[in-house]
Parts: sequence; structure tokens; C-alpha cells
Amino acid sequence: MNKMLPEPPDRDAPPAGPGVDLPAALAAKTAEVEALRAELEETNRGVLALYAELDTQAEALRQATELKSRFLAYMSHEFRTPIGSIRSIARLLMDRVDGPLTPEQETQVRFIQETSAEFSEMVDDLLDLAKVEAGRVEISPAWFEMVDLFSALRGMFKPVLTNPDVVLVFEEPQDVPPLYNDDRKLAQILRNFISNALKFTLKGEVRVSARRDDQDQVTFAVSDTGIGIAPEFHHAIFQDFAQVDSPIQKRLRGTGLGLSLSKRLAELLGGSVALQSELNVGSTFSVTLPVRLPGAAAAPATETTP
Ligand code: ADP
Repeated sequence: MNKMLPEPPDRDAPPAGPGVDLPAALAAKTAEVEALRAELEETNRGVLALYAELDTQAEALRQATELKSRFLAYMSHEFRTPIGSIRSIARLLMDRVDGPLTPEQETQVRFIQETSAEFSEMVDDLLDLAKVEAGRVEISPAWFEMVDLFSALRGMFKPVLTNPDVVLVFEEPQDVPPLYNDDRKLAQILRNFISNALKFTLKGEVRVSARRDDQDQVTFAVSDTGIGIAPEFHHAIFQDFAQVDSPIQKRLRGTGLGLSLSKRLAELLGGSVALQSELNVGSTFSVTLPVRLPGAAAAPATETTP
């Protein structure tokens, strides 16, 4: 860039002597400045063209992202009806509505039930992701107490605690004030963390806790004594379709979308997610949220709640 600027006059240069042709020197300097200005103008035109090109590329990218989100939303939506039918028919067969099943048939129908449940979960995750990407997720903040959220989660997980070697513990939230945020989205994030923790913990406990970090922030953590995640997978674990390349994790593989959805939801709630994990020791997935959703005007009736 410097080379395009005219040279400053050399203050230490000796004054032009009687033998110097001043008008000629001036003309030469003027021509030099003129050439530099022309060069600068051309560079400017180049930069402007580059900006225009960048704008075009950004618009194309935006359209491609929107198309992808629309396709995902449409596809997921279209999948829901047939999956629903498969699940209902499997339930009817399991309930012996059309007569008894042989043990082998029962095994097969159970397999259909499990696979269609996984498929349905994947479609739900895809639909949610598409909505987040398209900016169509509505955040509905309201005041809520952590104890209520924990007791709802406890009730939700009770029926699925089938492994007697694993206990699910909800700690009493310590010094956590009422929060002004979207409790359903927070519950969705914690549900993801807890169901993963239960899936990858064969023995021990899954512990859910909430603590106040400072005046403005609260961290919710789900710790397990499970198989853990090797350090090389930590950086990618919150990305779409990320899955750990280990025999157990491959066997229990789901969609690889739950954590990336959790991360994006946490960001929409003004917060972030984090992972601490040690192989064969356990993992802690956490989400840190502001006590009050930034930018949201709290409902006047409860403004003074905290
Ligand atoms: P999914 O569980 O549907 O595959 P997620 O995005 O929820 O997708 O998780 C991605 C991957 O991260 C999982 O497949 C698993 O390999 C790993 N993972 C998640 N939570 C845990 C955990 N608590 N312990 C060990 N591995 C985990």
C-alpha cells in the first residue's frame, strides 16, 4: 500500500542549487503523483469489484442454506406420517389385537418398534435443526424455578431407568435464582445430555446439577460415570452428525444430531455448552445460561421476581 503513496519531501535534502531545472523537476513529480493516483483508483475499483463479488457469494450461500433447511424441514415432515403408521401397526401387533405372536415374531416386531422409534427421533432432530438454521425457532421466555424443571425431568426419565446398575440423581439446585428463559428449550438440552449419559453409562450414576456461577450466570451439568470420550473427539462432538469412533459408541449410535442441536439451542438461549470427559472415567456435559435471557423484556408482572 505504501508504495502507492507519494513520497514525502526529503527534509534533509539540500536546497535545489542554481543548476537544477525546477519546472522540469516539478513536472516530473506531478506526473509521478498522477501515475500513483491512477494506480490507486484502479486498486479501488478492484476492491469494489471484490466486495460486489463477495456480496453475490454471500447471497448464494444464504440461498443454498435456506434451500437446505427447507428441504430438511419438508423431508422430515413427510417422513412423520409413515413412521407414525409403522409405530401404530407395531403397537397393535405387540398388543395381540390380531391374534397371538410366536416368540420369533415378537422379537421381529420389537425390532421394528425400536428401529422406528430411533428413526422418529432422528426425524424430530432433523426438523428441529432445520428450524434453528432457518431462524424459525421461537424462544418463549418466562420466569421458572429450577426445582420444577428438575422434577419434570425426573418424572420423564423414571419409566426409562431400566438398568439397575445406574442411578439417576438430581441434586438440589444450590443458590440458583428463578430464571427468565425458555424452560422447554433448556429441558430439551438437558434431556439430550441425560439420555446420552444413560445410554453410555453401564454402571454407576448420572448426576444432574445446577449451580450459580456468578450474579448473571447459571451452569447446569450432567455428569456420568460412563465410558467417556477420548480427547481427539472433544472438538468435534458438538458438530452435526459427529459420532465417536469406538466399538460401544458405534453399537449404540443414534443420529449424531442431538449434541449439535443442544449447542444451537443453548446459543439461542444466550448461553453455551461445554464438555469435560476422560476415557473410561466419565463425561460431564454442561450448559451455561444467563439468569435472564439477554434482549428479552421480562413480563412486567414478574419483573421483580428475582
Ligand atoms: P447420538 O447420541 O444421537 O449419536 P449425539 O449428538 O447426542 O448423537 O452424540 C454424539 C456422539 O457423542 C454419540 O454418538 C456418542 O458417541 C458421543 N456421546 C455423547 N454423549 C456421550 C456420553 N455421555 N458418554 C460417551 N459418549 C457420548
